[in-house]
Amino acid sequence: MNFASACTMTIAGRAVTTGRLMDVINPATGKPFAAVPVAGADELNAAVDAAQAALPAWKALGWDGRREVLLRAAKAIEPHVDEFAALFTAEQGRPLDQAKGEIQLGAYWLKAVSRQQLDDEVVEDTDARRVIVRHDPLGVVAAIVPWNFPFLLAMWKIAPALLAGNTMVLKPSPFTPLCSLKLAELWRDILPAGVYNVISGENDLGPLMTAHPGFAKISFTGSTATGKRVMEAASRDLKRITLELGGNDAAIVMPDVDVPSVAQKLFAGAFYNSAQVCIATKRLYIHNDVYEPIRDAMHALAQQAVVGDGAQQGVQFGPIQNRMQYDRVIALLNGAREQGLTILEGRAVPPGDGYFVPITLIDNPPEDAPVVAEEAFGPILPLLRFSDVDEVIARANASEYGLAGAVWSDDIDQAVEIAGRMETGTVWINDNLQSGPHIPFAGAKQSGFGVENGKDGLREYTALKTVFIPKKQAD
Ligand code: NAD
Repeated sequence: MNFASACTMTIAGRAVTTGRLMDVINPATGKPFAAVPVAGADELNAAVDAAQAALPAWKALGWDGRREVLLRAAKAIEPHVDEFAALFTAEQGRPLDQAKGEIQLGAYWLKAVSRQQLDDEVVEDTDARRVIVRHDPLGVVAAIVPWNFPFLLAMWKIAPALLAGNTMVLKPSPFTPLCSLKLAELWRDILPAGVYNVISGENDLGPLMTAHPGFAKISFTGSTATGKRVMEAASRDLKRITLELGGNDAAIVMPDVDVPSVAQKLFAGAFYNSAQVCIATKRLYIHNDVYEPIRDAMHALAQQAVVGDGAQQGVQFGPIQNRMQYDRVIALLNGAREQGLTILEGRAVPPGDGYFVPITLIDNPPEDAPVVAEEAFGPILPLLRFSDVDEVIARANASEYGLAGAVWSDDIDQAVEIAGRMETGTVWINDNLQSGPHIPFAGAKQSGFGVENGKDGLREYTALKTVFIPKKQAD
C-alpha cells in the first residue's frame, strides 16, 4: 500500500483509471496537489456489473462470514492511520490530530457495526404453523458521500450495507475523493472483488448513479436540495433510500447553567471542523439572565482560536473545505454587515489563497436574518436572546429542518421536558455532537428520510421477508 502513488478507482477489485483526471485542491492553499480519475457512464456500468456479480457469493457467506472479513478490513486501517490523516488534512483541511481522530473513529465504527446482526424473528408459533421474519440483503447499494466528514460518513454506509449482505458502489464528494480511493485500494486484497467499488467523478456522476437501474438502494448524505433530487430520481424505479440532509440546529441555554464551562462546550459544539458539521449548533438561544456573560466568554474564545493550515502545529480550526462554500459563507457575512448587524469577530486568519474565515458571532440578530434562517455551514454563529420557554421552543422549531438540538440546564427534569418538545431527530442535554454505532440517527422534517446507525440503521439495508412455515399435522 503506497500512499504516495497516484489515486486510482477500484472496480471489481482492480485499479482503474480514466483518460481524464480532475484536480484535488488543498483548501489551506487554494492550490491543486493531487488528481483523480473522472468516471463516466462506462466506469459506472462496470462498477455496478462488478457489484452485481459479487452479490451471490457475498450473500452466501452469511452474517458470521461477512463479519470476519469486515473485522479484517477494519484492522487493516490501523497501521495506516497517520498516512490517511495526512491525506485527509490535505484534502479536507481539518487539523491533523482531529483528522487522525476521524480515521480512528471510522475503523472503530466498522468494527462495532460488524458485531451487530439482525436475527430472524418468530412472530407466530402455533400447532399449525411458524411465521418468521427474515432480513435479506437488498442488492447493490449506491453510497453518495459529502466533503465534511468524508471518511466517517462513508463508513456509516459501508459497514451496515456490507454486513447485511449487500455490495456497494461508493462515490465520494468531488472535493474529497482521496481517502475513499485509498481505502478501497487498501481493501483490494481483503474484500472479495466487486463487493466494494469506488468511483470518483464530477457533478454529473451523482445523477447518473441515482438514475442507474442496477442499484437497489441509494444511501445519500448531503444537502437537503440535493436530497430532494435523489428522492425524485429514486422514485422512478422505487429504489430504497436513506437521506441524511442539512440542519439548522438550535441549542437552548437556560439561566441556571455554569457559564464558563458551558460557554466552552457551546463553542466546541458550534465550531468543530470550522462549523462544517451537519449537527453543529447553528442557532444559539441564550436566556436573558446569562446572555452577556455567555456571549463575552464565547467571544473571548473566538479571539484566541487559531484558524489556519491544519497541517501546522497549534492550529485548532482549518479552512472552509472548498471555494464554493467559502464564497457562500463570505456572502452571508457580508450580508450581515450590510444589514448593520453587530458582528463579533474572532482572531485574524492567515493571509493568502486559503479558504479561511474567522470564527464569528452575531450579536442578537433578528430571527429572519439570513444568518439565522439559513444553514451557514461555516463559522458564523448567531446568538439570540430569549426570556420565555414556550416562546423559545416555538422559535427553535420554526425551521424546515429538524436534525438535532440541545438543551443546557442544571434542571435535568425541565431539560427533558423541553427536549420532548423539540422537533428534531436527536436532542442532547448538556452535550452536543454525540453519536454512536449503536445509536440511531435520523433527521426530522426536511433533515432526512430514514435512519443511520443502530439496529434501525442496519435494517434499512435489508428487505423484510416473511416466511410462513406449515407444521406437520398429526394424523
Ligand atoms: P451536496 O448535496 O452538494 O453533495 C453531497 C454529495 O452528493 C456529493 O458527493 C455530490 O457530488 C453528490 N451530488 C451532487 N448532486 C447530486 C445529484 N443531483 N444526485 C446525486 N448526487 C449528487 O452536499 P455537500 O455540500 O457535499 O455537503 C454539505 C451538506 O451536507 C450540508 O447541508 C450538511 O448539513 C449536509 N450533511 C448532512 C449530514 C447528515 O448526516 N444529516 C452529514 C453531513 C453533511
